Amino acid sequence: MTEAKYIWMDGKFVDWHEAKVHVLSHTLHYGNGAIEGTKAYKTHDGRCAIFKLEEHTKRLLNSSKMTLIDVPFTAEELNDAQVELLQKNELFEGAYIRPLVYLGYGVMGLYHKDAPAQVSISAWEWGAYLGEEGMKKGVRVKISSMTRTPNTSGMGKAKAVANYLNSQMAKFEAVEAGYDEALLRDDQGYIAEASGACFFIVRDGVIITPPNDNSLESITQATVIDIAKDMGYEVVRRRITREEIYIADEAFFTGTAVEVTPIREVDCRVIGAGERGPVTEALQKAYFDVVQGKNEKYVKYLTYVN
Ligand code: PMP
Repeated sequence: MTEAKYIWMDGKFVDWHEAKVHVLSHTLHYGNGAIEGTKAYKTHDGRCAIFKLEEHTKRLLNSSKMTLIDVPFTAEELNDAQVELLQKNELFEGAYIRPLVYLGYGVMGLYHKDAPAQVSISAWEWGAYLGEEGMKKGVRVKISSMTRTPNTSGMGKAKAVANYLNSQMAKFEAVEAGYDEALLRDDQGYIAEASGACFFIVRDGVIITPPNDNSLESITQATVIDIAKDMGYEVVRRRITREEIYIADEAFFTGTAVEVTPIREVDCRVIGAGERGPVTEALQKAYFDVVQGKNEKYVKYLTYVN
């Protein structure tokens, strides 16, 4: 991570190294909080723009509502703060933005109604999440021994801090076993999502991705579906089982951080030709065109910061 100069904390810009919380902050102990992961790109005309800022902020507020936290800022205030944060940090080459809603210091019992709801927004330069080579050649994936926390036990549609224990356990297991990423199944055995991304396969030219029954409502997944339809592909949303993946022609992840990342291997089975497939490559290129402002239809999703 490349450090920036300032972090936004509850309305103020604080020096990066002074952005601290009390050790008795409620979220540190019990894990109730909400995050976003938003990305800004340098666009084709040299300016920098945040992609789908409003959608991300709305999801942050929705996640907080689901997890019973009253955010003391409006969507507009949070959007403005993110734009200002990039400006103050002069992050015009692109950045990853991490808003965090958390419960601060004041209450130690589990009943959190009176714990102060606080917000921080950080931003920094962050390269390809699964590596530059992975973007070109594809990554290796393991189906996790962890089940994606079912809707009966968690707030699956929230980008809740607590959900990332499940993700972290799966990711650690996969990386230690020599893979790049984990793919989690739901409690019925169908593919839910990766530790921090959504999942697609391509079979006979048809693009297939699971519904969000047991996953985050992903902003990138929605964008890629729209782009794929624009390009004339048939896109089907249905459940996927693990063995169907093994015989897919192509597979890839989507997410704000992973963007469109090809998958070349799952559980020791080579997917397709074992490299970035042609549909994946076309979607990857189209996605970068969209976030870099090269596709007129999607320019409305860009919030320019300079
Ligand atoms: N699922 C999980 C668990 C994630 O953390 C992410 C990343 N935010 C995604 C899916 C993809 O969501 P998005 O496209 O909105 O970044």
